[in-house]
Amino acid sequence: MNDLSKLTTSTNRQALLESMGLHTLEDVYMHLPYRYDEVKEIWPASEDGKICVEGHIISTPKIFFKGRFSRLSVKVKIKEEEYNVVIFNRHFLRPHLTMGVVVTIMGKLSGHAITASTMLTKSLDEMGGIYPIYSLKEGITDKQFQKYVNKALMISSDHIVDFTPSEYKEKYHYMNKKDALYEVHNPTQKERIVESLKSLKYEEFLKFQLTMQYIRVQRENEAGEAKVFSHQDINAFLKTLPYHLTKDQQEATKAILRDLEKPTIMYRFLQGDVGSGKTVVSSIGLYANYLAGYQGALMAPTEVLAAQHYRTLTQFFKNTDIKIALLVGALTPNKKEEIYQALASGDIDIVVGTHALFQTKVQYKRLGLVITDEQHRFGVKQRKALKDKGKAVDFLVMSATPIPRTLALSLYGDMDVSTIHSMPSGRKPVITKYFRSSSMKPFLKELKDYLESGGQVYVICPAIEDNEDYQMTSAIKIAQGMANYFEPHYHVGLLHGALSDQDKNSVMEKFAANQIQILVSTTVIEVGIDVHNANFMVIYDAERFGMSQIHQLRGRVGRGSKQGYCYLLSKATNEEAIERLQFLESHNDGFEISRYDLETRGPGEVLGSRQSGLATFVIGDVFKDFDILEMARDDAVEMIESYYKYDEYQSYIQTIIENIKSANDYMD
Ligand code: ADP
Ligand code: MG
Repeated sequence: MNDLSKLTTSTNRQALLESMGLHTLEDVYMHLPYRYDEVKEIWPASEDGKICVEGHIISTPKIFFKGRFSRLSVKVKIKEEEYNVVIFNRHFLRPHLTMGVVVTIMGKLSGHAITASTMLTKSLDEMGGIYPIYSLKEGITDKQFQKYVNKALMISSDHIVDFTPSEYKEKYHYMNKKDALYEVHNPTQKERIVESLKSLKYEEFLKFQLTMQYIRVQRENEAGEAKVFSHQDINAFLKTLPYHLTKDQQEATKAILRDLEKPTIMYRFLQGDVGSGKTVVSSIGLYANYLAGYQGALMAPTEVLAAQHYRTLTQFFKNTDIKIALLVGALTPNKKEEIYQALASGDIDIVVGTHALFQTKVQYKRLGLVITDEQHRFGVKQRKALKDKGKAVDFLVMSATPIPRTLALSLYGDMDVSTIHSMPSGRKPVITKYFRSSSMKPFLKELKDYLESGGQVYVICPAIEDNEDYQMTSAIKIAQGMANYFEPHYHVGLLHGALSDQDKNSVMEKFAANQIQILVSTTVIEVGIDVHNANFMVIYDAERFGMSQIHQLRGRVGRGSKQGYCYLLSKATNEEAIERLQFLESHNDGFEISRYDLETRGPGEVLGSRQSGLATFVIGDVFKDFDILEMARDDAVEMIESYYKYDEYQSYIQTIIENIKSANDYMD
């Protein structure tokens, strides 16, 4: 029996919950309210007409049906005056609205007419209190969801494991987990909600930090192999590169080479803003590893990106004997088999691919270095699977999500951190302009001139196809429109997540080869694509994207010596949305952008938003709850130390480690 059927027999409802990503009872009760509403009298009406007030019924309700919709109107006496109240789609209220009945009404007042959003046959006193508001799909109300939550909590009552050891609970006066969960879903007081959330966040972070610290200690106790290579050969290789390394690139490279030479295992996190040049640094690591007689693997989150890395490395290593292979799902079984054999026999020196690289059937002769790009898309477990493929595998993790160093240390507590701060010289900041428009009209001439001059263009849309529910510009429609306008003079390509990997690759290859001049895409393009001749980007409905996401997107242009342009289209009238786009016009530093992004998020969000693209937590927010994250880290260090000292901790920590699935979840 599936978990959700314990909550409701309605298969529609079950499907609705599934579509919200809630599959288990735990998923349901861990889906916390994103804010709380407090019911108290608002009368006289607020400036925008909002009211919340008690009254009593003084007429028989009238109902008017139109199709599936209904409109109920009734006269209500409020504070000795008569008002006409209208509420939609609540015809089922009629039998309860008899003369004299007391009701509490929430809604909008204009003159002596009220349009109610809520009307309940309860007095304001009975209604008063704090209500959880959830992020839900249409078809389910907050109340109904709360019922499911409470049922889920009741059924699971004996299985809710509290991972915070009792002495730490006492130290911080934390609530027990069951009570805390019950409180956040059935709030009684603001202070208690805050307390509950704190203890839940702490527990969540603690699990994560314990996993991280455990991995770190394991690694420190693991014997690796010192890799031996000649620095002269490395220098000779550097001379064959098309440019000089920046100072930060040199520093990062040095740290990596030093790690490789050590007899312990490297576990290094390399972060740098988009376009800061991490790929070349990783390639030097791969080269050193090769010189030392080991195989290397470079893993990317998408096939498109893997294919691009493959091309880049092939270029870098063209004057060497290194044999490189690309291993992706789209290959034929025969071709794959060939690669498996060549990896097992040691005929391939470097393999580039997606998660296909760590399937059990892939065996390496002498794997020495694993590099992952954009690692927050990979789980701890997956990383481990890849590392276990060799005896002394060194590990390099690259990420373009710019975060402050302290946070990086806390989030990637099991790793050493290198940061590339500065961009390669000669790089011009992308010129970003915001247009209050839903089409390219304001700069169509400029775009045409640009195409005429031989450049290529990215056009980014928030949706794949048209959808009535969300009025978003769709890639399919725009691609059609662009094709009608520009073809056959220029070729238009379409890229989105619903295409097969093979099709995606082929579109990307054509774009890289300039057989396509205009690439219309959804955000699948976001990660790491590098086509030097494409320096113009247009983003539709820009307000739909996160600021860091736009920053990542525009990092695709202006990557060579040419000037990059990023034009943001938006019809948003919301002042805050406009300010965010304007901020992007005047700022180019990923760190600054992520900070601004955080500071300007709505204060109404009690639980914080999780669009950062970092390790994801269900409850905690790594930025807003940084102090709790740090606390959990320090405690985890302490606990792990005790693990080796005291027996009573062993089984406890072991349980958590076995639960590594949840650590995996943080980074998927
Ligand atoms: P990211 O860090 O986003 O992965 P890449 O490694 O793809 O960035 O590099 C971005 C672009 O910068 C590439 O086109 C690369 O050739 C170029 N590049 C990297 N390092 C330098 C450098 N030191 N000088 C000039 N260009 C560089
Ligand atoms: Mg990259």
